[in-house]
Amino acid sequence: MTARLLDGLKIRDQIFAELQDEIPALVAAGIRPGLTAVLVGENPASQLYVKSKIAACEQLGLASWLLTPPATVSTQDLLSVVDSLNRDNNVDGILVQLPLPPQVDTKRILEAVDPAKDVDGFHPVSLGRLVSGRPGLVACTPAGCMEVLRRSNIPIEGANAAVLGRSDIVGKPMALLLMHANATVTICHSKTRDLPEIVRRADIVVAAMGKAGFVQADWLKTGAAVIDVGTNTIKDPAEAERLLRNFPARLEKFRAKGSILVGDVHPDAINTAGALTPVPGGVGPMTITMLMSNTVKAARLRRGAPEISAPQTTTSVR
Ligand code: NAP
Repeated sequence: MTARLLDGLKIRDQIFAELQDEIPALVAAGIRPGLTAVLVGENPASQLYVKSKIAACEQLGLASWLLTPPATVSTQDLLSVVDSLNRDNNVDGILVQLPLPPQVDTKRILEAVDPAKDVDGFHPVSLGRLVSGRPGLVACTPAGCMEVLRRSNIPIEGANAAVLGRSDIVGKPMALLLMHANATVTICHSKTRDLPEIVRRADIVVAAMGKAGFVQADWLKTGAAVIDVGTNTIKDPAEAERLLRNFPARLEKFRAKGSILVGDVHPDAINTAGALTPVPGGVGPMTITMLMSNTVKAARLRRGAPEISAPQTTTSVR
């Protein structure tokens, strides 16, 4: 069996096209959704992420602003920044790029964001709404995984799902979303006993551990749908050989570059799974996509605009 590849770039393009229909209608109703990114200091990876997020806003016609407090900023000063964004009616989404410098109390900053503008879905109020199944803003990566499942017509209702990882930003919200979609969910973590046995029973496996190629192909039920959230850069030639021995082109790429991106699921899973998100190109593109979607959703919910776009009814996260 060769798994069907679940193409995150294609799904991103679909969702962007839907947003490109919806945004002009909102603008015509006097609502131009807007996102402010707060980028503290000069961390190159964070700069790159924020640049991509702003570029996506520009592509879609969303308003966007970038604030760049210095790396020496205090918690108090950053709280003032968040407070002024909370009070600015043009700002629908506030994105505080993590990590923040060590002198800043990250939890306090994230909890200071108005939950109505919490487009990252990290605020405890957002998580609470998700627990109780109320409308709200859902963390972008798990929301994106649900879009991949739904838009790829993977049956969720009644399915056995195993979520590997229980972080606040991926594993926990993912498990809740699957449960609300009527899957029977097992949440696994580093203390879980007999992980292969749990994975073997799962129709849907979501791997979000941050462990390169950890989930072995023979753990999977034949035909399972596998959502690989892991993004691991490997540099060790022996590890590359272990993971990519059946993928000569990728191994060649590794040798040329000295590193390669792999997921949490062993690439050989392509021969056992029924459907699989590739790494890169699967879940990765969905995170920014859902940030855009959340910004539009926040504008709609916060400014009382009607639901405009019909195709979005295929999802529960919108
Ligand atoms: P995290 O906060 O480090 O959480 C990792 C989780 O995996 C923890 O719950 C941990 O269990 C569990 N775990 C670790 N070893 C395990 C094992 N041997 N068996 C079972 N569970 C194990 O990571 P995260 O932020 O959720 O991210 C997870 C991965 O997703 C990372 O590779 C990250 O880069 C990637 N990610 C990708 C995107 C994207 O856009 N594609 C977005 C976010 C994250 P304990 O709770 O017991 O420690």
